[in-house]
Amino acid sequence: MIKSEMIFLGPPASGKGTQTERLAKELNLPHIDTGSLLRAEIAANSKEGQTAKGFMDNGQLVPAELVAQIIIKKIFSDDAQNGYILDGFPRSIEQAEILENELNKANKDKSEKRIVIKLDVDEDLLLERIINRRMCKGCGKIYNLKTMPPKIENICDECGGELYQRTDDTKEVAQKRFDTYFTQTAPLVEYYENKGLLVSVDANTTPDKVYQQILNVIGK
Ligand code: AMP
Repeated sequence: MIKSEMIFLGPPASGKGTQTERLAKELNLPHIDTGSLLRAEIAANSKEGQTAKGFMDNGQLVPAELVAQIIIKKIFSDDAQNGYILDGFPRSIEQAEILENELNKANKDKSEKRIVIKLDVDEDLLLERIINRRMCKGCGKIYNLKTMPPKIENICDECGGELYQRTDDTKEVAQKRFDTYFTQTAPLVEYYENKGLLVSVDANTTPDKVYQQILNVIGK
């Protein structure tokens, strides 16, 4: 069995969450969604959550050690033996280096297949998506009030949970999150290009069309 490591890169609201959730279900791989894991820490009022909250409310990256500690545990957990899908990690060169070191330390399996998928979206579409995004309090499913609304207003189609707007999905915080992306995360494009791992997908289109392109690039 070849172990698959997939990393998704892209600015806030480029569709990483929607695509990785679907892909993980279909490929039966764990979906390691950093933002949701951090929001769960906040909801549990843990020490990590308390630290993370201030950074997240400001559109900044949470300190690398804190995030890495949560993610690395998931990557090496039993349910990730066949691979995993990383959504929102790494988000800086520092984090990418931590990941490389951990994989090397773990005496990386030679049959591991790695790919980094970058979702390209025009900047003016991103803000529109952020403002219209809603999430389920129960299962975390993502909706868009304009393009992917729930069947019943404010209620999740999947689990019946209540929908809410993330506190960082405002115009002001979104702007800071874009700045963070372009200064700290975008350098990863070149980093993974140099490793020969990067592929780009045009994510300006519908979720179904983006998904088809992703299946193509991973050879499914
Ligand atoms: P997301 O749900 O992916 O949009 O992430 C929401 C927020 O969580 C980000 O704006 C950051 O504050 C924080 N966050 C998510 N992933 C990371 C990461 N890899 N490193 C640091 N902070 C992160």
